[in-house]
Amino acid sequence: MEYRKLGKTELEMSLLGLGGFHLLEIELSTVKTIVKRYVDAGGNYFETARSYGNGNSERKLSKALPKSGIILATKTGNRSFEGSREELLASLKDLNRDHVDILFLHAVTDNDHWEQIISTNGALNTLEWAKREGLVRYAGITSHGYGGTLLRALNEYSFDLFMTQFNYYDRFNFPEIEFKVLPYAISNMIGAISMKPLADGYLWRSTYNAFRYVKTLPVSCIVSGINSVEQLEMDLEALKSPAMKSHEIEELFSTAPELGDYVCRQCMKCLPCPEKINIPAFFLAEGRYDRQMLDGRILNASDYALRDRLAHWFGSEPQARREYYSLNPSVDNCTDCGECLKRCPYGIDVPRKLRLAKAKIEEGFIV
Ligand code: SF4
Repeated sequence: MEYRKLGKTELEMSLLGLGGFHLLEIELSTVKTIVKRYVDAGGNYFETARSYGNGNSERKLSKALPKSGIILATKTGNRSFEGSREELLASLKDLNRDHVDILFLHAVTDNDHWEQIISTNGALNTLEWAKREGLVRYAGITSHGYGGTLLRALNEYSFDLFMTQFNYYDRFNFPEIEFKVLPYAISNMIGAISMKPLADGYLWRSTYNAFRYVKTLPVSCIVSGINSVEQLEMDLEALKSPAMKSHEIEELFSTAPELGDYVCRQCMKCLPCPEKINIPAFFLAEGRYDRQMLDGRILNASDYALRDRLAHWFGSEPQARREYYSLNPSVDNCTDCGECLKRCPYGIDVPRKLRLAKAKIEEGFIV
């Protein structure tokens, strides 16, 4: 197992972290087997959250975790001081610990959440109080999807670490995570933890490449939701492989079946549009809206069910609408001239995709 230092903390994290959400789906005996195999393989990072089954994940983990030698994190999604303090105390009780290493403010995805957190009676007070009382060693924040609020929060409070999605699929829907949030964190010694290396399971056919891609990034730990020993072994095996070289990343972006001829790689080669339509910006808005999951031509029922479930998982639709309606000229100016079709290296049917983006964001479904 490879270990990486977490920001300016004293923590050395195993590269593979064990996510607590999917432990809800399996029996305690299987949880114990997974935890034992993970620790035997050198794993040391466990994370859970109060909201995972209203404490059920924490109660299950407490029965399976070693007493020492691990790094343990939980999360509170309550935005008030009183509410988040109560959640932390309940978490400690259910985890059967006198402290946790990390407390995350959970799923801070828009500015309203952040403004509640930093208000006079907000949850930021709980982080400060819990650190003073020795209940928590390090303060973290998590976010899903659009990274604008996360970047603002890291600017406005001295968090020790953050956790959000990093994978080769959502990289094209939320590029600010890799290109703004991560560089800001690294230059300020804020620890970065990756979650969703398989894009919530969407990249399940490509585990090897998915882990190799995230391993290439300067993150301290890759948290994976694991609900079987077989899955754990697959993740461990994938992480033994070397990080990707730049030419391998380019090849992945060209050939990954999940990106195919639908997901916009934001390469800008279709520009300039004769009608001055900012094509990549419309597709970025579509990425925020439904992660470019629904392409109107899915042929396999189980694939459709998976995409349908994951498309709106992150709740970044308000950001999608803000971006979409700020663009001028609108997609209605497309004349189907076909210039962009000749230029897109990934074979994307740009005029059709513009029509789908409009239908999804304006009508709420594909028409
Ligand atoms: S050329 Fe294709 S992949 Fe590149 S920005 Fe335009 S539509 Fe997206």
